Amino acid sequence: MDWTARAAALKIRADLWIGGRFVPAASGARFPSVNPANGEVLAEVARGDAADIDRAVRAARAAFEDGRWSRRAPAERKEVLLRLAALIRANIPELALLDTLDMGKPIAESSTIDAPGSAHFFQWHAEAIDKLYDQIAPTGPGDLALIRREPLGVIGAVVPWNFPLDMATWKLAPALAAGNSVVLKPAEQSPLSALFLAELAAEAGLPDGVLNVVPGYGAEAGMALGLHPDVDCLVFTGSTEVGKLFQTYAGRSNMKQVWLETGGKSPNLIFPDADLDRAAEMAAFGIFFNAGEVCSANSRLLVHRSVQTELVERLAAKAAAVVQGDPLDPATTMGPMVDRSHAARVEGFLQRAEGRLVCGGRRDSRFGSDAWIVPTIYDNVAPEAEIAKEEIFGPVLAVTPFDTEEEALHLANNSIYGLAASVWTRDLDRALRMGRDLHAGTVSINTVDALSAMTPFGGIKQSGFGRDLSLHSFDKYTALKTIWVKMGV
Ligand code: NAD
Repeated sequence: MDWTARAAALKIRADLWIGGRFVPAASGARFPSVNPANGEVLAEVARGDAADIDRAVRAARAAFEDGRWSRRAPAERKEVLLRLAALIRANIPELALLDTLDMGKPIAESSTIDAPGSAHFFQWHAEAIDKLYDQIAPTGPGDLALIRREPLGVIGAVVPWNFPLDMATWKLAPALAAGNSVVLKPAEQSPLSALFLAELAAEAGLPDGVLNVVPGYGAEAGMALGLHPDVDCLVFTGSTEVGKLFQTYAGRSNMKQVWLETGGKSPNLIFPDADLDRAAEMAAFGIFFNAGEVCSANSRLLVHRSVQTELVERLAAKAAAVVQGDPLDPATTMGPMVDRSHAARVEGFLQRAEGRLVCGGRRDSRFGSDAWIVPTIYDNVAPEAEIAKEEIFGPVLAVTPFDTEEEALHLANNSIYGLAASVWTRDLDRALRMGRDLHAGTVSINTVDALSAMTPFGGIKQSGFGRDLSLHSFDKYTALKTIWVKMGV
């Protein structure tokens, strides 16, 4: 496919989506959406603020209360969302291009992972929703106690820019399947695919007002959604710092439920009995996929000292094989950082880094913008060094050696985060011990970053506490209600 030609012909929707149609911001304000690969402005996007969030919440509330979606049979909601999944599949090139142009990920990934993934996650949650049964409590013959799951009402969803379409989907698919109305605030760096998705949802038959999309800045639209007194539940994926703000917004307003999926500094533990070829290949994937802009990126490599040199050599070869270049070129395997300010932040970590620089370690302006970072590996990084502790959110790997299993476990768990961890060993007992003892929402054994629609994804500690994906995701979007009937009255 000639992606460049296709990109030139791409239709960009850049207004707010409220009540089933595109509208400008009440203030008339707009903000630029910039292609980080070359610095070009893609669109001037309507800049939603508190007034627009209020309009969107009213539309969502009206839709919820009149039951146009919330009281439809689950099987009917399923049909609409299955049509949406089919429409996403039919529009994979457009959706993939919007994410690639907006935030710089290679088209080879957005067209094969992100956009098909969105269709898959909508389909999975749609298919599940008419197979969930409620309960009857074991009271006794004189009583009938029904335990029902009901949709919560208006869900506010605030999502990041690293997987724009999929992060929105992870919230929308279960929230909509469960019968809620949603106001989605995409990241200001990457609002375009969510706006197209809203239009596709309407085409699939989602009633007006059930899904609203309000692009805007975090401190304006995002904060307004967090503070809105008529939002029942706020689901967030993003940084730990901003996640904490949403907890305060809830406390300052209506005590809405808040579910957070936040940052990580995930360890990848490599024991000497590992398959080193596979471990090196996947360790490189674990840090370089999506330019390291992955919450569960395996950014700390903990390696047994006896295989350290060999492994780092193999990793350096993998880093050298990364192809940076035009994200629209299917041969490209790594794009720029999401924007120049994030690239500057990553560069700051590189300038302060301690340890032996193996490769990279710098910003790169070869490709026509200054948002590029060269794939970077530091070896012999002290566990207390900044690059071993803080989430960088870029293609930067910190390698730290260990001598014993106990030391490895201690190093791995000595973090404020607990999102994911990976372990490489052929020793079954050790693998299971690690699976049990590592502080993480997901422990991947002899792979990295395992996830699927079937398994819950989320963290512990300051990585948050919500769970996306799997049937467990419905817990966030439903309230348990008891209806108790006294018999024979
Ligand atoms: P971010 O926290 O800066 O922004 C996330 C969202 O919050 C955006 O929509 C933004 O506009 C909004 N926001 C920013 N400031 C706000 C404020 N003051 N009030 C209200 N809303 C505000 O995060 P980011 O830079 O977009 O994304 C990177 C972060 O996301 C990383 O920390 C990464 O680990 C995390 N992340 C976590 C997961 C997960 O599932 N745990 C998945 C992907 C990304």
